[in-house]
Amino acid sequence: MKITNVEAWVVEPDLGVFIDSHFGSEWQWTFVTIETDEGITGWGESSNVPRKTSLLTGAGVRAVKDALIGEDPADIERLWHKLFRRYTYLGSRGFPTTIISGIDIALWDIKGKALGRPVYDLLGGKMRDDIRTYANAWFGGCSTPEQYHAAAKKVVADGHDAVKLDPFLEMNEFHTMYQDGQISAAGENLGYDIIASVRDAVGPDVEILVDAHGHYNVPTAVRLANRLYDDSQIGWFEEPLPPEGLDALRSVRRQTRAPMCVGERLFTRWDFSQILHEGLTDYVMPDVTWTGGISELKKIAAMAEIYFIPISPHNAQGPGQILAGGHVSISTPNFYRLEHAIEFKPQYDRFLTEPLEWVGNKLLLGDRPGLGRELDMDAVRAALHPDWVA
Ligand code: MG
Repeated sequence: MKITNVEAWVVEPDLGVFIDSHFGSEWQWTFVTIETDEGITGWGESSNVPRKTSLLTGAGVRAVKDALIGEDPADIERLWHKLFRRYTYLGSRGFPTTIISGIDIALWDIKGKALGRPVYDLLGGKMRDDIRTYANAWFGGCSTPEQYHAAAKKVVADGHDAVKLDPFLEMNEFHTMYQDGQISAAGENLGYDIIASVRDAVGPDVEILVDAHGHYNVPTAVRLANRLYDDSQIGWFEEPLPPEGLDALRSVRRQTRAPMCVGERLFTRWDFSQILHEGLTDYVMPDVTWTGGISELKKIAAMAEIYFIPISPHNAQGPGQILAGGHVSISTPNFYRLEHAIEFKPQYDRFLTEPLEWVGNKLLLGDRPGLGRELDMDAVRAALHPDWVA
């Protein structure tokens, strides 16, 4: 079998109030398709965030096409390394690994379809029958503890037993810009009150995960994490600091009682190596569309397994991401929970020919070949970003 074409498709999902309030609707998903001379087409996802950067990764996928045409799509490992070395002279992680990710996922989809087996079977088979998730409940429109209380009750009533949020609303506007790492006393206290209110709403048995979005300096991160843990027993404090450098993370780790989760902005096994070796986190959360695809997520999971650290894949993009992360999750011993965004679910299904299958808060994968779902190319074409030329 030979690869005959590689294409990227940048679409605009309709993600509603959360994204609009944070990013002014500037959010796209990048899908990847790989065609072969035997009629099998695979697909993957190379989405970036936010502000039109999915157009950049889409252009990146097109730029590396020449390295793939004529190659045997079965040689996933070799093609991963070919791309990783051929296009990374100015740096090997992040942007290039996002391009590689969508291609890698599409190659696994092709391999599964060619062999008539689901991808998880090619990764060693099932460790479990379904995939535990946690709900990234954006709580769009909520601003008071009372509103969060009511919204959290609904999330649990809908069948979720783990919920993630960022209660420090004042920091939203600094989500992707430089800031001093501090928060006002009023903003900090409102955040504590929101989490206490959510804890009151959901009871003691539901996990509350707090995403700090890399906003803070060391003393602020330490103070927030410890107070949230002592007052409201949070399950983890995620990305306390900007992702650059380990010295500050070591300092936070030494001073913090709350469990820690990092990794959505760590790329490839090399970025995770020192974190795991030094015990700087309790959970790792690689993103399958950013860290290097199914191949790389599986390797990072095996590295974490050595340290008995659970893996909880980051998942804040589209349907290719949740399916690819799902196939690794279902086949991985040290899997914890797969993220999913409640408000994104209709948009996952919008771009698939058949909807994803859920039982309560668990994702099912079924036993169809490859990723198990097909991109709806009519829906993709109908939602192309105006700046993307098909
Ligand atoms: Mg996060």
